[in-house]
Amino acid sequence: MALVDVHCHLDAPAYHDLPAFCRHSRQAGVTVTVAAGTGLQSNARILALQAQEPTHVWAALGLHPERLDATWAELEAVVAQIHAHRQRVVAFGEIGLPHYTVLDQRMTSAQAQEREAMLHALVQAAVRCALPVVLHTPHATSAVALDIVRRYEPPGAVFHWHKGSPETTAALCEAGYLVSVTPEICYRERDRQLVEATPLANLVLESDGPWAYGGEFTGQATTSALVARVAEEVARIKGIPVDVVQHVTEANAHRVFGQPYPSAAKVAHKGENSIDSAS
Ligand SMILES: [Zn+2]
Repeated sequence: MALVDVHCHLDAPAYHDLPAFCRHSRQAGVTVTVAAGTGLQSNARILALQAQEPTHVWAALGLHPERLDATWAELEAVVAQIHAHRQRVVAFGEIGLPHYTVLDQRMTSAQAQEREAMLHALVQAAVRCALPVVLHTPHATSAVALDIVRRYEPPGAVFHWHKGSPETTAALCEAGYLVSVTPEICYRERDRQLVEATPLANLVLESDGPWAYGGEFTGQATTSALVARVAEEVARIKGIPVDVVQHVTEANAHRVFGQPYPSAAKVAHKGENSIDSAS
């Protein structure tokens, strides 16, 4: 078993001891953490972490859409940073569109419009780098982002902690993009329904650490190790063996991030057969 946590903020102070974090993850069967950057400084920190633990940490570099201080100058610097370190980067992310509560409370509509223009620019830059995108596009913004990725067609897209409508979910799966789900699927009905509605071929798993979860995780520090529990719950919801969930989501993650995974084709095929026979 070699699970992949496709979204974690490894530059957070909570994760100051990277070797301990990686050991703890591996004990739970999680051998890769995709670290998501939120801007120039955060991305630099993630590149340093990737250099420290190159097999465990995959670097996604981005510009978070809810950062009020993000500018076009920073966007250009981030794109240059990704070009400079292209060989060590697996995706543009975290990029996306702001949540409506941010719009209501902190962002002006001009700033929100600017974030949308920035997403266009970042997805186009991802296409030029032949990199997939990891999207923060909560609720209805996922439909807007889906139009943008369909227009420019980056080599892949992960809709992280997806909360869009069933129609948007169906459309993004149809287009071959991926939905990543968090420990919230263990206790929140909306997220459980999302797992039911999403084919296993379109699913990947994430911790979104250091975000703190409720339910059985209340009071627990979030690490990549939680992804093992997410895999177990996907298996329960879909009524399929957990090893199929582990193998197929692992293969999906390697495929979208363009990482070699020699047994992927065989394993994914086996997984699909098992799903066919289970359904
Ligand atoms: Zn995030």
